[in-house]
Order: sequence, then structure tokens, then C-alpha cells
Amino acid sequence: MTESQLGPASPTPAALKARQPLRLNGIRLDPAGLFGTWQRRNAEATLPHCVGKLADTGILANMRRVAAGGGTFHGLWFADSDIYKTLEAAAWQLASTPDDEALHRFLDETVELLAAAQEEDGYLNSYFQTDHPEKRFQELLWSHELYCAGHLIQAAVAADRSGAPAGTPLMVVARRLADLLVRRFGPDGTDGVCGHPEIETALVELYRSTGHRPYLHLAQRMVDLRGKGLLPKDQLGPAYYQDHAPVREAEEVTGHVVRQLYLLAGVVDVAVETGDLALLGAAERLWDSAFGSKTYLTGAQGSRHRDEAFGDPYELPPDRAYGETCAAIASFQWNWRMLLATGGHRYADEMERVLYNAIAGATALSGRHFFYSNPLQLRAGHDGSIEDSPSQRLSWYHCPCCPPNLARLFATLHGYLATTDGTGLQVHQYTNTTIHSGQYTVDVSTAYPWDERVTLTVSGGAEPWTLALRVPGWCTDHALTVDGTPVEQAPVDGYLRLTRSWAGGATVQLDLRMPARLVTAHPYVDAVRGCAALTRGPLVYCLEQADLPAGLPLEDVRLDSGAPLRIQTHGPDAPIPVSLVASGTRTRPGAPALYRYDPAGAGEAEPVTLTAIPYFLWGNRAAGPMRVWIPAP
Ligand SMILES: [Zn+2]
Repeated sequence: MTESQLGPASPTPAALKARQPLRLNGIRLDPAGLFGTWQRRNAEATLPHCVGKLADTGILANMRRVAAGGGTFHGLWFADSDIYKTLEAAAWQLASTPDDEALHRFLDETVELLAAAQEEDGYLNSYFQTDHPEKRFQELLWSHELYCAGHLIQAAVAADRSGAPAGTPLMVVARRLADLLVRRFGPDGTDGVCGHPEIETALVELYRSTGHRPYLHLAQRMVDLRGKGLLPKDQLGPAYYQDHAPVREAEEVTGHVVRQLYLLAGVVDVAVETGDLALLGAAERLWDSAFGSKTYLTGAQGSRHRDEAFGDPYELPPDRAYGETCAAIASFQWNWRMLLATGGHRYADEMERVLYNAIAGATALSGRHFFYSNPLQLRAGHDGSIEDSPSQRLSWYHCPCCPPNLARLFATLHGYLATTDGTGLQVHQYTNTTIHSGQYTVDVSTAYPWDERVTLTVSGGAEPWTLALRVPGWCTDHALTVDGTPVEQAPVDGYLRLTRSWAGGATVQLDLRMPARLVTAHPYVDAVRGCAALTRGPLVYCLEQADLPAGLPLEDVRLDSGAPLRIQTHGPDAPIPVSLVASGTRTRPGAPALYRYDPAGAGEAEPVTLTAIPYFLWGNRAAGPMRVWIPAP
């Protein structure tokens, strides 16, 4: 047990990096803020829910059968990963609430089970151990063996860094498996890559926690071997697995989104730990592809249900958006690594966008129901009875990858707010919190994103240091004062910078003007041409049937894009703290025909008031149509 209190993705001192994460115990979220609310809900509802589901759905029973000497596997063959992600979430949570006995018990019992199930040589995978021992490491295209191993390693790293007593035995289990992978797939073994990336980023984290370089070298080797045709060809094609071209040569993000983004997280980890600027450059090039033409307004990615895949550039249909929750989380993780590596504000911007919209929207207010897919429109008449695109969040899924992924992210949310470098402290995300880093203390008070004012009480440090405050990309007007005195400053590289001695303490007030706005899409996005979306600050808004007058179908609503928008504040404790009110038109098509060959008649029209709610809060009332993009002729 080392209890470093480092968070996820903590580069070594020798790594290439522009920014350094803070230790988790240096930051505390105030439950009065939105992030604090989310984190508390995660601890009190989502995480216990996931722990319960592992038992109820038989996922843990698979591991018990292995430990007991055999039996038949039930469920999806990669379900071990859900145990590991829940373990990781529990471990991170214990860094904040070290006295949670229920979580300690879950960790202790599960780690004991894993140790009992693990084979002499370190192998651990309950599906192959029970059903197909003869196929160990024989079918890497679909086996998910290294994917599952990666999640086990990440759980062990989390437990180690958070200081949970179970961290020591869990690290032993993880390292025994990792050592087997080094023997099997390292320089003295066979060439191989996993069909589902994840092991790369995990191995780098294991290297960071242990200092054992063979883990880093194996991660590097697996990044370099990808795209060399090691995976057999199947009907999905090599681009689905990102095996169509080496990462260094790939021109655009392709295929299964979660695989692509987990791979890129690992690519950045390998690049910074090996000092490989060319590899980091490849990640930046692929970032341009992902965020230049393949990302929804909500930060969701993946426009095809088929193959859970990226579409062509600008192929972003709102109603058929796949936008898997895990992809949004992977985007957040990748952008965090890019931010640390480069300091570029665009990465913090995308973390904000995806967190407040696609990620936050995946969890119900109860914390116990979740979306797997996150569309930007739900039509009247939608068949929401199937898991693929339900009308409301479900408590669990046949493939339950998303809920435990949410749990592990929200348990570490405080770790992503701020960083340090040689000049001082950078604040990237705004919420109620207290940040301690070395001799600096910054107390943040705000009702962001409902209100535009952020107040920071800053102290500490005998020598002058620089407080850097991000001005989000959506913000075109800001005001800054220090102890009441206005500071005229334009953001440089996305940040306002105040350099002074803070020893006597000072109050910094940052106003990020957040008017309600209409947003339109790039003209190539045919699917939403003629539509506009409502936004305010980092939040995307949507119309939901529940807010329309009775008898008015959502599909008949048009937005009056020339009329002013109004911000309606309901108070921070209301279910919907701030709504946007717009003017619109109710249209009644002149003819009911699906297609008309004569010029369309104007039909009837009458004015209607439209109330839009934050996208992340949709689907918490009666199931019904929803849309982000509204026709605005
Ligand atoms: Zn998922």
C-alpha cells in the first residue's frame, strides 16, 4: 500500500508534459456545487447500485465458479471487465471516504476471490478458464482477454494510489497477470494486439505506479504493432479495430469509437513516457479528425449504431446518434491526457462539453438508471422498448459497460479540475471546491453553469506565482477583477493569467458571460440543415414533449430564430435550475401526404412559447419525444 493519492493518468516526473495533475486529497468538491452533487450521487447511489448488480446478474458468480474449480460461464464473455471497473470505482471512492466499510468489504472479498481464481502462471479470465481453457490467447480479435486485463490493472492502480488495504493484494494479482502478458507478448514472446484496446493505457499506468519498465515497453510495443495486420480479417474490416493502419500513419478516427478512443488514450500515455513527439503528433492529428467533423454538439461521438462506430466526416444524424456513454467517458479521458501533455485549452474545452452534456445526461437523477446510447432526438412513435435506444434510462444492460464506467469517472471527478506547472496553478473547470497544492490554496465559489460568476479566494506562496483561469471556447465576453479592481486582459491560449504574490490573500472574480444562444451546424452536416440548437454556457438545451402544451406534437414546432431568448431561473435546488424560453411557431402541415408533387401550402401557423431544458436532464419525466436541433426556417 503506497497511498500516493495520485489520480488517474499521472505522468512520471520524467514524462513529457506541460501540466501536472494535483493529488486527489488536495481537492475536495463541495456538495453545494453541481460536480459535488454528481459525485455524492455516485457514491450514494450509482456505485452501490453497480456493486449490487455484479451479484444480482451473476457476473461475480462466474469468478466464484473458477475459484471453486469449474463450471459453465454465464453472460457476456468479457463481463470480468465490469467487476474490475466497479472495483476501480470503489477504490477511487475510498480515497474520498476511507471509512466506508461496505466498500472495503466489497473490495476485500472481491480481491480475495480474484486471487483464488487466478492460475499459477498469472492467467485470469473467468470465461476462458471455465468454457475454453484451450483457447487462451488464441483469438485476440474477439477474446477481450487483454481488454479485461487492462481493467484489472487500472483497478489495482486505483486501489494502490488511494491507499485501500486491498490495494496490496490486488496489485499482486494484477502484476502476476501483467508479468504473464510481458512473457507472452513482450520482446521475447509472440507479436499480438487485442481486438479491443485498453491494455495499452493500463500498462502505462502500471509502469507509473511500479516503475517497472517492461510494462511501458509492452504498451509501446502494442501501440507500434497495431495496424500491422496481426489481427485476422473479418466482416467488420480492420478499421473497426483500428488495425487498418499504424497509429502514426492513420489520417482519421475510424471504427468502433470506444476502441479508437481507449487506444488514443494509451497512445498519449506511451508518447509522453517514452518522449515520442511524433507519436504525440499523430494523436493530435487524429484529434483534429474526431473533433473537427465527427463530434456531436453534446460531445457525444459515434453516429452509427452499426458497429458502434464513427461515421463519415459530418455524418451526424441527431435521431440515429449512437453516442455511447463509454465513448464520451473515453473522450474525456483522452482529452485529459492531451491537456496534460500539451496544455492546450481546446482539450479542456472538450472535457467540459462532453462532461456537462453527453456524460452527465447518461445518468438519471436517481443515480440508478443509465443511457447506453445518447441520441440528440427521440421521435414520436419511437420504439423505445429495446436496449439499443430506449426511451428512458435503464437500470442495467445486457452489456453493462457504461454504468461502472460512469462510477469510476465520477469518483475521480475532482482530479480533473486543476493542474500545476512551473509557473503556478491552472483552473480548467469551475465548480464549488477547495484546491490545495503545495503552498497554494484556492477556494472556488460559484453556481456555474447556472450562473456566470466564479469567485476565487486565493492565498499562499511567499514568491509570486501565476493563477491561470480558463476562458471556455464558447465564451466571447468576460470580466475579471482582483479585490474589486478590474483587470483588463484578453485570454492568451485560452487562459487569463494573474501573476503576483498571493501571500496576503486576494479575491478574484471572473464573470463568464453566458447569454442564451442559437447555434447552427457546419453546412456539411446535412442532417440538421435548417435547424438551430439552444445553448447557454457549456450547456446544450433541448425541447421535451413534457414542456409543450397538450396536443402539440414536438414535430410540429418551429423556432423563431429572430426572436430574443429568455433565461428563466428556477433556483439551484429546482429539478431544472435554469430553462430557456424561446418563441416559436406551431405549424399544421397543409396536407398529410408523406410527399407532395405540387408546391407545398403554408398550412396553418400560430405562435407558441417554447421552454427548453438542459440536455443532461432530459428523460427524467414521462417518456416522450425530445430534440436538440429544432427546425428554424
Ligand atoms: Zn458502454
